[in-house]
Formats: sequence, structure tokens, C-alpha cells
Amino acid sequence: MRTIHAVNPFESYLTRLRHAGKTLALSKAQLKELEKPNKIIERKIKITRDNGKKQILHAYRVQFNNARGPYKGGIRFHPGANLDEVKALAAAMAIKSAVVNIPLGGGKGGVQLNPKEYSRKEIESISRAFARAMAEYLGVDKDIPAPDVYTNAEIMGYMLDEYEKIKGHSEPGMITGKPLALGGSLGRDTATAQGGVYVLLDMLRASGLKTKGLRVAVQGFGNAGFHAARLLHAMGFVIVGLSDSRGAIFRKDGLDPMHVQKVKHEHDTITGIYCKGGVCDDKKMKKDGARVGTNEELLEVDCDILIPAALDNQLTKENAPRVKAKFILEIANGPTTPDADALFEKREIKVIPDVLANSGGVAVSYFEWIQNRQGYYWTESEVFEKLKPLMDSASQAVWRMAKEKNVSLRDAAFLLGVARIAEALRARGVV
Ligand code: NAD
Repeated sequence: MRTIHAVNPFESYLTRLRHAGKTLALSKAQLKELEKPNKIIERKIKITRDNGKKQILHAYRVQFNNARGPYKGGIRFHPGANLDEVKALAAAMAIKSAVVNIPLGGGKGGVQLNPKEYSRKEIESISRAFARAMAEYLGVDKDIPAPDVYTNAEIMGYMLDEYEKIKGHSEPGMITGKPLALGGSLGRDTATAQGGVYVLLDMLRASGLKTKGLRVAVQGFGNAGFHAARLLHAMGFVIVGLSDSRGAIFRKDGLDPMHVQKVKHEHDTITGIYCKGGVCDDKKMKKDGARVGTNEELLEVDCDILIPAALDNQLTKENAPRVKAKFILEIANGPTTPDADALFEKREIKVIPDVLANSGGVAVSYFEWIQNRQGYYWTESEVFEKLKPLMDSASQAVWRMAKEKNVSLRDAAFLLGVARIAEALRARGVV
């Protein structure tokens, strides 16, 4: 399948879909069904600022496809949130749920605002206003939101509370990523990284590679990046590079993510291990065989596995020719541009795509939903015992599709997702 140059995120989805349609011999009616969201809900939500002024914000919920189960997908609070973005993200969620083979569809929501400009109290009223505006479209069997960019468990708690007030009954499964006190799942914090690690191990095994001693560099040291580095370090991988928004640290003999996290807590950045206020301790670095550098260097450092776990569009046609890793595990959403993808394919660098690599997050959201429906809660080890076979079978299905159709892992994951949704549409007699 050739590479697509994105015009906008939704156009990019449509182009990929039409290519997949040819490969899978989808009918015109099936393609049509997958080309548009089932429902777009746009609302203007009104809030009162702390200074008494009224403000109107644009809120969106896109319900893309529910052929395989209720709509599922996060809500982001971001100044760039717009309909095309939310539509593309909702479509990606439908694909992701299908790839990991959970009985859920795809949706996404957003409110256009810069959350840094709002107080905690204002964020609470925005969250409650969103839940009020969308309540009739949400529900445990209809559409189940979750946190996304700049939203968190606390916000999910406010939304659940507002929704239950409107409905007049308890319904914890209408939203996931909640605080534990409201029915959140144990293991949710580590789920994305743990799922990514299972997938990576599967792909290394399928490629006939031994894991011990493989060198890893991780961009981003937040929830997903830290846990990925911690888990891989504990398994004997050598963490040769780590970064956060302020810079990177490198050590050929390996870094200990637990120690780095302690430093980050103390100094607010991981480079605080060697530098204070821009002044670095050269002697200490020499003694440790370590150095500090930039995020750009991190992406190009000599390693076997590169894990982008920060932002989108990090690997581009500019830096892709200099990437040395043999595997890229996309824990972040959309870290690789289509141009970079084509270059990686040419250079036989295996990109494990986001819809597979970070799907441990939605998988454990699905487990949260199951626990809420049962009113019976699992231990953390039960959560991971159930996550592993789910991720393993998703990896194997993607690998098989890649071999069968002779395509990249990214194209294979997309084909698998589309094929499973099309099958559900067929089984319903829709198309
Ligand atoms: P987070 O906010 O906890 O951490 C983000 C990290 O990225 C921080 O360490 C920050 O310092 C770093 N960062 C910011 N700008 C950077 C830059 N220019 N260069 C390098 N590092 C930079 O976020 P998270 O939850 O860990 O999510 C990270 C990525 O993983 C996002 O793309 C997110 O969509 C994706 N993801 C996360 C989850 C999850 O469950 N956390 C699930 C699916 C996908």
C-alpha cells in the first residue's frame, strides 16, 4: 500500500480506508458506511468564569461506528480541538477497538479551550456542562467516554456525577478512567505501557530476535513513557536514552528509570540528574559515562528500539533517514508522519503502529467497563493476566495480516480493524 500525504487528519483516514477497501475487496456500500461517522454532536456550552463573566465553548462528540459495540473514546480539552480532528480520532478508536478485538466501537469528544487558562473550579464546571450537553447520547450501552489529552480521572469523576444526577441512577460503566473510589480499574495507570511491552515482545519473538540486552530509547517520561522504560529495564533491556520536554539523557551502559523518576520529582526534569539551571556537572557525567542532550538527538540515538511516548509528528521525513533503531514502538498517538513511514518501510525499520502499540489503554478501559457492569472488582494481577492474551492475539493477528498481504505492520493493523468492522456490518445485514 502506498504512503498517504495527509491533507487533514480525516482526509488521511479516508485515503487509507479507500486503499484498504481495494485490498479487502469491500463493497461500495461497506466503504460508504465506514466513510462517515454515525453521528456528530456539536454543542455550545456556557460556563461562568471565576470573574463572573459568561463564556461559550465549542464541544464535540463524534460517534463513528458502533457495529461491534457501544461507542468508546476519550474526551480532550485542547485549544486545537475541532471537528475534523475529533472525527479522525473517533475513526481511529473504531479501528483500535477492532484491532484489539474488544466488543466496542469508536467515538471521541473534545472541548476547544486551553485548560491552562482555567482554574480547577472552572474545569469542573466545564466538565459538568459537557456531561449535561451530551447526557442523552452517552450511556453504558451507548457511548462510553474516557480521559484523553488534558483530561484526567478527576474530570471523569465530575462527568459521571453530573450524568448520574440527570439520569437519577448509578451507572459507573458510562465512563472509564475514573478514580478508583468511583469504580476505576486497578492497573489502568500501567495498562498502556504494559500492553505496549507485550506487543513489543510478541513482535521481537516473531522476528526471531532475543530480547536480553537490546537497547531502548524512550521519548517522553510521563505516564506511558516512564512505565514502558521501567518495565523494559526490569526485563533486562538496556535503557540508553530518556527524554522529557526539557531535554534528554543518554548512557550506553543503561539508565535506571526508577532513579531517573526520583530525580524528575526533585528537579522537575530528568536532566536534573546532571544539570542545575543550565549548568551541567561534566565530571559526574564523565564518571557515569553519561551525557545530556536534546530530544532531537534522542530520536536519532544508536539503539535497537525507539519508543516515542510524548507527542504526535515527531518522526518526519527530515529525521527519519537518521533514525538508527530497527523497531519503533508507537506508544504516542500519531508520532510518525506518512513521509517518515514510507522512509522506514524502505529502510526495513519495523514500525509497530499506535492502534496496536498503545491499545493496552483501551483494553483496560474495557476491563473497567466489565467490572462496573458486574459490580465485581479484580485485583491488579487479574487485570494483567487478562490483558496479556488479548494483546498477544492482537499482535499475532496483525503479524499474520502483514505476511499474508505483504504490507507494513501499520497497513496490516488498519486492514485488520477495517475487516473486523466490515464483518460486523455484514453480520448485522447493514451492508
Ligand atoms: P503525559 O502527559 O503523562 O507525559 C507526556 C510526556 O511527554 C512528559 O514527560 C513530557 O515532559 C513529555 N514531552 C512533552 N513535550 C515533549 C517534547 N517536545 N519532547 C519530548 N518529550 C516531551 O502523557 P502520557 O499519558 O504519557 O501520553 C503520552 C503519549 O501516549 C500521548 O501521545 C498519548 O496520546 C499516548 N497515549 C497514552 C495513553 C495513556 O494511557 N497514558 C494511552 C494511549 C496513548
